[in-house]
Amino acid sequence: MQRFEGERHESLEVLSVLDGDTCSYCENGTLTQQFFQSDEAVVCDECGTPAARLW
Ligand SMILES: [Zn+2]
Repeated sequence: MQRFEGERHESLEVLSVLDGDTCSYCENGTLTQQFFQSDEAVVCDECGTPAARLW
């Protein structure tokens, strides 16, 4: 359990880093942290492409 919690925390930090970054799939998109199909993810607000996602 402890190990799982730690890994999840690291993943959330990755999402935080990506949040606000520019999308690599389209011209003007900005990555925003949001839920993607009920998972926490960083998704482009322009094209909707998930840049990172927690499973
Ligand atoms: Zn995009």
